[in-house]
Amino acid sequence: MNIDSIQNGIVLDHIKAGKSMEIYNFLQLDKLSCSVAIIKNVNSRKMGKKDIIKIDTNLDVDLDVLGYIDPDITVNIIRGGALVEKKHLKLPAQVKGLLKCKNPRCITSVERELPHIFKLTNPSSRVYRCIYCEAKAE
Ligand code: ZN
Repeated sequence: MNIDSIQNGIVLDHIKAGKSMEIYNFLQLDKLSCSVAIIKNVNSRKMGKKDIIKIDTNLDVDLDVLGYIDPDITVNIIRGGALVEKKHLKLPAQVKGLLKCKNPRCITSVERELPHIFKLTNPSSRVYRCIYCEAKAE
C-alpha cells in the first residue's frame, strides 16, 4: 500500500506522539484485513511530534470512544483518493461500556447486566462519574 494515497478510508491525524499503539489496540485494528499504516513521530508544526494512523477501508470508528481517548485527534475521511470530511473530536458527554464502575456498593456490581455508563461532569478537568452512584471514573 502506498501510504500517501489511500483511496477509500480514514486517516487519524494529530495523535499525540507515542499514543498510536494505544489507539490501534483500542479500535482493534489488528482484526482488520485491510492495510493499516502507523506512522510515528511525524514532525508537526502544531504539536512538535505526532503519530498518524491510516486505515485503508471505510471503518466506522466510534468517535465518542476516540474522543474520550484523545479529543485532539482529527479524523479525515477519504473517498476516491480525496479528503471529503474532516471531523474534530471532543470529549463525549457520556461513555457507555468503556469505563467500569469500581464502587462495590454500586448497583452495577449487583445487577451485572446493567451497562456501565459514565457522564462527563466536569469538562475542564475531564471528570466522568458513574450515572448510578456518582463514583468518579479512575
Ligand atoms: Zn457506580
